[in-house]
Amino acid sequence: MSADLIDGKAFAAGLRARVASHVPAFKAATGRTPGLAVVLVGDDPASAVYVRSKGKMTREAGMESLEHRLPADARQDDLIELVDQLNADPTVDGILVQLPLPRHLDAEEVLLRIDPEKDVDGFHPVNAGRLATGLPAFVPCTPLGCVMLLEDRLGDLSGLDAVVIGRSNIVGKPMAALLTARSCTVTLAHSRTRNLPHYLRHADIVVAAVGRADFVKGEWLKPGATVIDVGINRVDGGLRGDVDFESAASVAGAITPVPGGVGPMTIACLLRNTLVAAHRRESVPLDERAI
Ligand code: NAP
Repeated sequence: MSADLIDGKAFAAGLRARVASHVPAFKAATGRTPGLAVVLVGDDPASAVYVRSKGKMTREAGMESLEHRLPADARQDDLIELVDQLNADPTVDGILVQLPLPRHLDAEEVLLRIDPEKDVDGFHPVNAGRLATGLPAFVPCTPLGCVMLLEDRLGDLSGLDAVVIGRSNIVGKPMAALLTARSCTVTLAHSRTRNLPHYLRHADIVVAAVGRADFVKGEWLKPGATVIDVGINRVDGGLRGDVDFESAASVAGAITPVPGGVGPMTIACLLRNTLVAAHRRESVPLDERAI
């Protein structure tokens, strides 16, 4: 292995500490604590683990975690009513509905119902549109974490060639928008892309968000490339990314490990977005670029 490891775990811990450092001044200015409401429907074990971990880290940052659980057979109307209550609650700054929802529920309608000013996941089309047009927006947490790791490693990204593999609304598309806004030349690849290695050969930056273990091979990469592996794939009881780590690490200049790379950034960025939402809602000044 010759690549440097990008330590997302350490970077995320630093980001959470920066978020926490701003909470006392917010409390002093407003007399209240920033609040994040998390809604969990049903009893999917992986979702329950994520929600517990989000709650713990929210409290550790000095913010309030409000957890709302609905049974697996909850009706769409119950969920919409809960979202409406959270939209109207002045102590709630951020609302997150844990996905996936049970199959009988319409996730799109629920996400559309969240007040865009409290949409700390950045999934509402208003925030997606704001990001696409260069307006201040809540940016989905995983791609936001990826771009923070890239800027920490590379500094100014302007002029670099980037390939994003995967075009989901939660990772690939916002990732491409963030890199475009930083003046990268971006290729957005997907399952219909012909000859992916052709594009990767020129890429200074590769972000893999495919959902297939070990998909990206080291021999496809440009020597010295910076590789961000978003994938989380459960294989034989362990976790693997979307990049074949061993072969990629012998070619890349820097690479995120799985676990310990992008994963920890997602919750840290959620806390960051909640802090920002609280400040914007209360019109308390905050240097958002410094967090
Ligand atoms: P997704 O919605 O399933 O999207 C996967 C994307 O990969 C699609 O755009 C698909 O193309 C593309 N794709 C599939 N096969 C391909 C191929 N052979 N060549 C090129 N592109 C291909 O997945 P997602 O939600 O974006 O998540 C991607 C991965 O990131 C998953 O492993 C997920 O677990 C992980 N993830 C991690 C975090 C984190 O916190 N670290 C957060 C979110 C997701 P089409 O559009 O053409 O189908």
